[in-house]
Amino acid sequence: MHGHNSQLPPLEEPCTACGGTGDAPPARPGEMQTSLNCATCKGHKVAPTAAGQQLLDFVQRRLGLSEKEAHRSMFG
Ligand SMILES: [Zn+2]
Repeated sequence: MHGHNSQLPPLEEPCTACGGTGDAPPARPGEMQTSLNCATCKGHKVAPTAAGQQLLDFVQRRLGLSEKEAHRSMFG
């Protein structure tokens, strides 16, 4: 990955919650497993870094999303 887009810092990194597998941790005994995907990265295996999150914010702003819509797309 060297020499490609070197202007940009890393925008995403392996999800630390699932170790980059995208899988939810096994449910503990007596606990309902609501999803097979990691809750943090939604199974994408990677999570945005701080720089990536800034880029997401930038894109959302440039797309003219209202704060309410941006909030919903992030937490909905
Ligand atoms: Zn994850």
